[in-house]
Amino acid sequence: MNIILLGPPGAGKGTQASRLVDNRGMVQLSTGDMLRAAVKAQTPIGLKAKAVMEAGELVSDEIVSGIIGEALDGMAAETGVIFDGYPRTQAQAHSLDTILADRGRTLDHVIELDVDEDALVERITGRFTCASCGEGYHDMFKTTKVADTCDKCGGHEFKRRPDDNEETVRTRMAEYRAKTAPILPIYEARNIVSRVDGMADMDEVTVAISTILDGADA
Ligand code: AMP
Repeated sequence: MNIILLGPPGAGKGTQASRLVDNRGMVQLSTGDMLRAAVKAQTPIGLKAKAVMEAGELVSDEIVSGIIGEALDGMAAETGVIFDGYPRTQAQAHSLDTILADRGRTLDHVIELDVDEDALVERITGRFTCASCGEGYHDMFKTTKVADTCDKCGGHEFKRRPDDNEETVRTRMAEYRAKTAPILPIYEARNIVSRVDGMADMDEVTVAISTILDGADA
């Protein structure tokens, strides 16, 4: 099964994708994560993407579709994939069709996480992760149980994304509205879009997504 999780920054795509990885053995392909890794490793792609990402703008379609194609090449055909943060433009949506068709894959679901934008700014600007294991936290909604200590691995170092500040978040949301939301009709025409209330409790969102996926399995 191949699915797209769609929604503005902070909608919970990453959280829900990692739960699908844990619960269903699917693989999460997050272009944001792959680009951040490229920036960290200072690869040619990372060097090109760094400033664009820091400004909250979109990296070129060519680059992101290239990394998605490469990631899929290393994967068994029966492994289910969650596309998280890709596609983000009409050109990427068309590229994804070709990328999947070339590899004998089909797109089964597009799940849109419906959210209130103003609440998202608070969600995003408060988030941080453990520098060792990547566990996600939030200043208000999910603090560590013991101060400055990761609940999962006991690490003491935490990090915040450089693009999680209010100004950049507003740009990222504007990019979503202008370039990403318009790709929904492509998938609506194929009857594969489901909407989930992304403002609901995280566990409820997980159940709602599961119900959609199981409906197709049944
Ligand atoms: P994310 O982690 O999905 O919020 O992505 C972080 C940043 O990486 C975005 O603000 C963009 O600059 C870049 N990015 C991630 N995915 C894409 C994509 N599919 N197309 C263009 N830029 C992307």
